Amino acid sequence: MSLLERDMSGEVSVLQAMSEHEQIVFCNDSHTGLKAIIAIHDTTLGPALGGCRMHPYSTMSEAINDVLRLSKGMTYKCAAADVDFGGGKAVIIGDPRTQKSPEMFRAFGQYVASLNGRFYTGTDMGTTMDDFVHALKETQCIVGVPEIYGGSGDSSIPTAEGVINGIKATNQVLFGHDDVAGKVYAIQGLGKVGFKVAEQLLYAGGRLIVTDINEQVLEQIKEVGKHVGNEVTVVKGDDIYRAKADVFVPCALGGIINDDTIEQLTVKAIVGSANNQLQQEHHASVLVEKGILYAPDYIVNSGGLIQVADELYGSNKERVLTKTKAIYFSLLEVFQQASREQMTTVKAANEMCEKRIQDRKERNSFFLHSKRPKWDV
Ligand code: NAD
Repeated sequence: MSLLERDMSGEVSVLQAMSEHEQIVFCNDSHTGLKAIIAIHDTTLGPALGGCRMHPYSTMSEAINDVLRLSKGMTYKCAAADVDFGGGKAVIIGDPRTQKSPEMFRAFGQYVASLNGRFYTGTDMGTTMDDFVHALKETQCIVGVPEIYGGSGDSSIPTAEGVINGIKATNQVLFGHDDVAGKVYAIQGLGKVGFKVAEQLLYAGGRLIVTDINEQVLEQIKEVGKHVGNEVTVVKGDDIYRAKADVFVPCALGGIINDDTIEQLTVKAIVGSANNQLQQEHHASVLVEKGILYAPDYIVNSGGLIQVADELYGSNKERVLTKTKAIYFSLLEVFQQASREQMTTVKAANEMCEKRIQDRKERNSFFLHSKRPKWDV
């Protein structure tokens, strides 16, 4: 109650959350200094899944807003990836550089355990796999820990596979076939995901224009290009936006699709792993006006989510890579719906996710009704 009295904007958020979110848990452990919020947005598709972020939020309302927004985003991401999980998220209020301890993550694990399987979590900004090895001592509802602790390991492999599937779906719409060969791809960022995408495209006959602030990875990808006999052109910084390519593949920063960069783009489509690529929502419409097909980032980059969701069945890398094919089919559905209804692909993606959740609700209630006792027997 004092929270609501002290913080008017926090009050609005809590009241809004009561109508949109299923459950919000405030965690306070004075012994370890843990102050956390777990938000469960929607469990129609399955138990809530979402990472745990640690950040020195300056106000309680800032932390509440973040956890509510992110947990809702996870509901959509899980629906798009076609995994049997709903949306949730956790935030720990504190500085990850100075305020962490193993005991704090054990205390957090106990709160997760108290939810009895309604919430699964793992790393996000400010938290590491090692932190969750401590939480794992208290609950089995932890995903994405190192393989030696039963986790599924490096998520960038399925994320890159998902991007390739996204590019194939996009090529299908642009060129009438999903072959990646013979096309030019402008890749921004050759890190864990971008490098794997670049390698796969080169091996499949794609030509690349690339940029990164790390000279070493640029040299490495040129070597791969030489090895397979395919062209790799390196450009500096913002020149990537002006690259004469078929598809722009952002795999570094968020917010890079904005008024300034859209002006420069000459590509036919954008498909990449970077989170929150559109600086603002209306940029989806600006892309439509410019005739650029946008593959919504939260669908394209859901390979890592597909991998951690698969941990419930015992990790299997081949099965995960097969499951990333869902990204291909989801994107085709989104592109077709956007074209049919003359809407942006972002709106079509959101509507597809809402429909999947609604359909499951109806199916769930059908089974519920079919199990009702017949009073006349
Ligand atoms: P990473 O840190 O390994 O790679 C990022 C790369 O971008 C680095 O090589 C870095 O040098 C480069 N870079 C940074 N600033 C740049 C700039 N201004 N211009 C050009 N290059 C720049 O990260 P990652 O794991 O490969 O993830 C890439 C993106 O995909 C991020 O936005 C991430 O949030 C998102 N993503 C990753 C995963 C995953 O499984 N790793 C899952 C979902 C989304």
